[in-house]
Amino acid sequence: MERIFLDHASVTPVDARVLRFAEPYLAGGYGNPSSLHSVGLEARRAIEDARTKVADLINAEKEKTILFTSGATEANNLAIKGAALRNIGKGKRVVSSAIEHMSVLNPMKDLQKNEFELTTVPVDSSGIVDLEKLEDSLTRETTVTSIMYANNEIGTIEPIREISEIVHEKGLYLHVDATAAAGRIPIDVQADGIDLLTLSSNDMYGPQGAGALYVKIGVRIQPILPGGGQERGLRSGTENIFAIAGMGEAARIAREEMGAESACLSEMRDNLIEEILKIEETYLTGHRTKRLPHHASFRFSHIEGESILLLMDAQGIQVSTGSACSSKTLEPSHVLLAIGLKHEEAHGSMVLTLGRSNTIEQVPRVVDAVDKMVDKLRKISSLGKE
Ligand code: PMP
Repeated sequence: MERIFLDHASVTPVDARVLRFAEPYLAGGYGNPSSLHSVGLEARRAIEDARTKVADLINAEKEKTILFTSGATEANNLAIKGAALRNIGKGKRVVSSAIEHMSVLNPMKDLQKNEFELTTVPVDSSGIVDLEKLEDSLTRETTVTSIMYANNEIGTIEPIREISEIVHEKGLYLHVDATAAAGRIPIDVQADGIDLLTLSSNDMYGPQGAGALYVKIGVRIQPILPGGGQERGLRSGTENIFAIAGMGEAARIAREEMGAESACLSEMRDNLIEEILKIEETYLTGHRTKRLPHHASFRFSHIEGESILLLMDAQGIQVSTGSACSSKTLEPSHVLLAIGLKHEEAHGSMVLTLGRSNTIEQVPRVVDAVDKMVDKLRKISSLGKE
């Protein structure tokens, strides 16, 4: 049975071209980029090359605005805690949306333990941040506001430029977690007005173990990992050259191929949405049009998340029920609750995220599998009621 992998929000397989490019940095005995000898300088050049490629992907004004980290989780922590603690003299308030990833919400909650006040801005039923409530929640004491570019569970793209205007009108910093959006839709930190932006290598076909934080020139943050002073003193620790070089190459490929790739994937996405919504009592989660090109997410009445995933897997199709990071807890997704679903509704969700291995020819098999899965689970659940 041919496997159809539709869980690219959990991880994207490393692109063969990325692997070829970065492999020498794993196997070739490269030096420590902080060493001044020629072997060290070669490693340094690999990192600076990656920095340029990542800066180009998001149209950063200068290469030095890019700091490499171990991944998106670390970049989110560095942005939020680093900005909040560095600017504590201004105040102790932080703001986020209700549908942020846990790697944004948990550092915010950690700050609460240090007497920061956290305001969580609600979203509407399609996942768009309530701009009026956002504006009301901002005060002169707000040190960092974090709103994601697009949501990984429901695919909704936020109106980042409008959000940036609101935040900047009050002279505050905006952090944007672009993990789900980068390499899928164009991001321009200068035109979008972003102060801090998180990127992840393994969400754009790069190796695990690298991420990046864009820090606009003039934005003040402090390190959360003090040490030997790498990455302009803001992220210490010997650099993971293989992962960073791979992330750079992944960013270069994404920048070049994003337009064509997204056009193909969005056609497949729209076909899936059209066909799957024909199943009775099936609803789209997230925004119908303001959504990531590779993202289709649904909710089925009267059935349950875990069994959705298992029955699809048994038919050779890997899907998810929400965020891979919180799939081990049996709690319903905070994102689905935030868009107004009841607990029992939030349990019946299925997220399909498409990637480079998918083709439009796979649509009929996926739709057929979803049909069979829903039919089987609804029969079981009605038997349970009898
Ligand atoms: N933010 C978002 C929106 C995510 O989807 C993820 C997970 N891919 C993360 C942050 C955290 O990424 P990582 O686990 O790679 O650090």
